[in-house]
Amino acid sequence: MTEPLTLPGFVNAHSHAFQRALRGRTEGADFWAWREVMLDLARGQTPGRVRTEYADVYREMRAAGYTAVGEFHYVGFEEAVAAAEAAGEAGMEIVLLYVAYARGGIDRFRQESVAEYLRQLEALRDRGLGVGVAPHSVRACPRDWLQGLAAYAESERLPLHVHADEQQREIDECVAEHGCRPIELLADCGCLGPRTTVVHGTHADAHELDLVADAGARLCVCPTTEANLGDGFAPVEELCERGIGICIGSDSNVRIDPLEELRELEGIARRRTGRRNVVPAGSLLSFGSDEGTASLGLDSSGEIEIDVDHPSLLGVDEADLPAALVFGCAADVVRA
Ligand SMILES: [Zn+2]
Repeated sequence: MTEPLTLPGFVNAHSHAFQRALRGRTEGADFWAWREVMLDLARGQTPGRVRTEYADVYREMRAAGYTAVGEFHYVGFEEAVAAAEAAGEAGMEIVLLYVAYARGGIDRFRQESVAEYLRQLEALRDRGLGVGVAPHSVRACPRDWLQGLAAYAESERLPLHVHADEQQREIDECVAEHGCRPIELLADCGCLGPRTTVVHGTHADAHELDLVADAGARLCVCPTTEANLGDGFAPVEELCERGIGICIGSDSNVRIDPLEELRELEGIARRRTGRRNVVPAGSLLSFGSDEGTASLGLDSSGEIEIDVDHPSLLGVDEADLPAALVFGCAADVVRA
């Protein structure tokens, strides 16, 4: 048997573990109809259910080579504690990206005020759990919330994660309410900085991407989910031109495979540019590990082992392994 190849563990920078239960279900003609089904599922979450079902999801992630997860969590405080326990059981490092939600959604998502939100976040920190500040979106958080959350994240030097520009409707609503686009509003409210990760950015325009680059913020792309929900194509080559750090997330968990996320990422870039090797394979692997580690404020993502005797890697020269992994393999090449 050949010595296994050792790689840094992959980091899943954006997950909603409960949405794994929607896999294979086809309800919803578009994102907004899917969202109604998702909200029904969210209503039914309990600490016990989260403790059991998230452990299964995190085991699936761990088997696929993810060693750490940023759980973008909006289904309640006790459920957040249960999610952390589930991750521990599955051997996954977790950062609870605890979500602030002022309006819309369903009752259980919302807090009464920024102060109430911060009390909950600090109660998680008091238990020794890794956290990040997560205004859900400019849909769910008005300007004063965004400002308050940004100030707290900055003073505590915590990661700040926020959804933006996933769907055109969100942009239209933001322009109608604020007279600017979502990432412009985030910048104006102090939400963009080097510890910020903007999730999706699918429909971000050039000015918004300039703002992300100027702030040293990252973008988390979630290609399998963005394909599944009909969101659109991440502006991969425009991110690379600006030197914006890119990390990956399994998001809705319709698919859990970091190699597939990276393959999609590069596939989108090739389709959009008509070129090959827009992002070199080694850089793609680094997006999957190092950028995710930095996005979650972690020091390291540990290591995973690749089975180089796997049939998918038969006949591949050692020097070609990174590209063969990204373009020719599924996550079952990761050794348990
Ligand atoms: Zn999300």
